[in-house]
Amino acid sequence: MPRVEEGLIVKGVTADVKPYMAKPEIQAKLGFPETLVDNWEEAAVRKLGELLEKYKSLQVYLDTCVRCGSCTDKCQFYLGTGDPNNMPVARAELLRKVYKKYFTTEGKLFGKLAGAHRLDLNVLGEWYAYFHQCSQCRRCSVFCPYGIDTAEISMAAREIMDSIGLGQKYVNEIIGKVHTVGNNLGMNPKALKATLESTEEDLEEETGQKIRLPLDEVGAEVLMVTPSADFFASPHVESLLGYAKVFHQAGISWTFSTAASEAGNFGMFIGNYGQMQKVASRVSDAIREIKPKRLVVGECGHAWRVAYSFWNTLIGPFDTLDPKYPSPQHICEFTLDLVNRGAIKLDKSANDDLTVTFHDSCNVARGSAMGDKPGGQFTIPRDLIRASCNKFVDMDKDTIHEKTFCCGGGGGLLSDEILQIRIQGAMPRMQALHSVMESDGVNFMALICAICKAQFTKIMPKYGVPMTTAGGVHQLVARAIELGAKA
Ligand code: SF4
Ligand code: SF4
Ligand code: SF4
Repeated sequence: MPRVEEGLIVKGVTADVKPYMAKPEIQAKLGFPETLVDNWEEAAVRKLGELLEKYKSLQVYLDTCVRCGSCTDKCQFYLGTGDPNNMPVARAELLRKVYKKYFTTEGKLFGKLAGAHRLDLNVLGEWYAYFHQCSQCRRCSVFCPYGIDTAEISMAAREIMDSIGLGQKYVNEIIGKVHTVGNNLGMNPKALKATLESTEEDLEEETGQKIRLPLDEVGAEVLMVTPSADFFASPHVESLLGYAKVFHQAGISWTFSTAASEAGNFGMFIGNYGQMQKVASRVSDAIREIKPKRLVVGECGHAWRVAYSFWNTLIGPFDTLDPKYPSPQHICEFTLDLVNRGAIKLDKSANDDLTVTFHDSCNVARGSAMGDKPGGQFTIPRDLIRASCNKFVDMDKDTIHEKTFCCGGGGGLLSDEILQIRIQGAMPRMQALHSVMESDGVNFMALICAICKAQFTKIMPKYGVPMTTAGGVHQLVARAIELGAKA
């Protein structure tokens, strides 16, 4: 693959690139120690012991690595930064050497000779830097012959750090906002209602039709849970218009909910089950309140992973919903089903100014599934895109489906103080995009993730690519849907 722009990527050690630490009041809101506890080494080792008991997979991952090297060049953060500590095997080693020191006989007896190391301040500093240069995308696990998942190791390290008072500002602040206000953006119910009303007015102006964006409508057939960025961030809101047009045209009653005004669940990024459950419990509150038959989730990668893979355990069973439908169901599957049944009609020519490619969001690609056929998470969004436009091209086969690269901003890395890492981590994806821009004239990369949208629109200009090149799959649907016409 050609380099996007020689000289843009600054190779070198990134040990000093660290996200801001959470302030005491942010830590306190989540029930974590406000600052580094006095006995932090002992407390961290105790926490690691608890996690090893709780997650047998963690111990297997720490015991199994044979240093075969298959994963070394598979992480976008290593490829983008050139920092050897961003090789998945080296990242995992930062925790593995501590595990060896306190939990294995050879580590206790032979120390450094056995690859063991005390958790001292230097190691803690390395943990804070490099476990926040991992987007928990799981790409490395695809290439590891033993399936070692460095994302889980990274989650464990972050959970340990939170437990001793070393939290990350961006992620913990957002979790706190969800607990107190209800969503990542800290948008209160009044502001949410006003935003939806003004978007309805815009929609009426654009289409001449009264397309609704309902909120808290008890008895609606579908409860729609979407990332709060969809309510007004750009390009996210374009997909919101797509969802609304789809429900309107299909004649299906639906509603958002103020209780569950956030699909995202940053609890996963810090590996904390309790936080994940507390965030997810807002969805079960909304189900009790709205009494819908169906539960549909909007475009968000990690949110879909939590919904698909964990909601049932966290807040299930969904026995009040209609068993005829998948619970939860991804919006792409929902819309494609309507297209296939002829319940809505798409005019592909509305997108004839675009040559489209698709970025598989890694949390969807490697952390979930979609529909009832294996690989549905790859085919369903592509089928919906093909139904919405005439020109579609896939990127290099080694960068799509389960081998997709992360956008560089996932896993809680979307804060500006570590923009350097985000730009560098995006390099492999931007190279693959650039390649199809040159060979096939691609000018739109469709996405199904709120974080991918925020990340790409921010970093694309750094690679000389217009930010309007990134947008949602339902942005294409919104342009192509035939409103008013009978399918
Ligand atoms: S999970 Fe993703 S970001 Fe983390 S080490 Fe593996 S490939 Fe890199
Ligand atoms: S591919 Fe797996 S076994 Fe090989 S070095 Fe990487 S983590 Fe270890
Ligand atoms: S932001 Fe998108 S590509 Fe990046 S980790 Fe999340 S789902 Fe994956």
